[in-house]
Amino acid sequence: MRRLTAGKLLVATHNAGKLDEIRAMMAPHGIDVTSAGELGLPEPLETEDTFIGNARIKARAAMQATGLVVLADDSGITVDGLDGAPGVYTADWAETPDGRDFMQAMTRTWAALDARGAPEPRRAQFRATLLLMWPDGHEEIFEGIAPGRLVWPPRGQHGHGYDPIFVPEGHDRTFAEMTPDEKNAISHRADAFRKLEAVLA
Ligand code: IMP
Repeated sequence: MRRLTAGKLLVATHNAGKLDEIRAMMAPHGIDVTSAGELGLPEPLETEDTFIGNARIKARAAMQATGLVVLADDSGITVDGLDGAPGVYTADWAETPDGRDFMQAMTRTWAALDARGAPEPRRAQFRATLLLMWPDGHEEIFEGIAPGRLVWPPRGQHGHGYDPIFVPEGHDRTFAEMTPDEKNAISHRADAFRKLEAVLA
């Protein structure tokens, strides 16, 4: 496994929340983080049908534009009773003419399970893929998972996306009913970050 040494790391995201999380994690390791959003790079289209494929598209675009080592991430939720949907299309299920609406996406997901008569517990997994790409094209990939079940109706005010209907395994509260610290200790992204820390020299 190739090590990431101190220096500059470009995070291939335009999402300020993800950037803050990654910057905080890298700071103790002497790695200076900048982002595709901060550099004004264009956002490439995510045309692959896997989390790794889409993370690779984001990483490669940012790496080719800058020549820096790049970290990209792609995430979503997979629902067993829907054969893994919405998966890489998680954000797309929330799209409306006026922007993203996650209440619409959660309603659609629960209705699709009802339509199939899916039994409870309705198992699902949040998934996060982190992909590090060096300028010579070398990659290291870290996959995180948070297993759990979906519940209805939505509960809780914290978090984002599908958090109000996702209860992680071994818990009774949804991600949206947990504080950010509680969620971040057990989330899919935290799981992937822990694996990535192995490459920080
Ligand atoms: P992307 O990784 O930016 O492509 O976004 C994937 C989508 O997955 C997000 O828009 C969210 O809807 C969903 N998602 C990813 N992680 C979480 C999470 O921690 N909580 C709730 N939804 C999430």
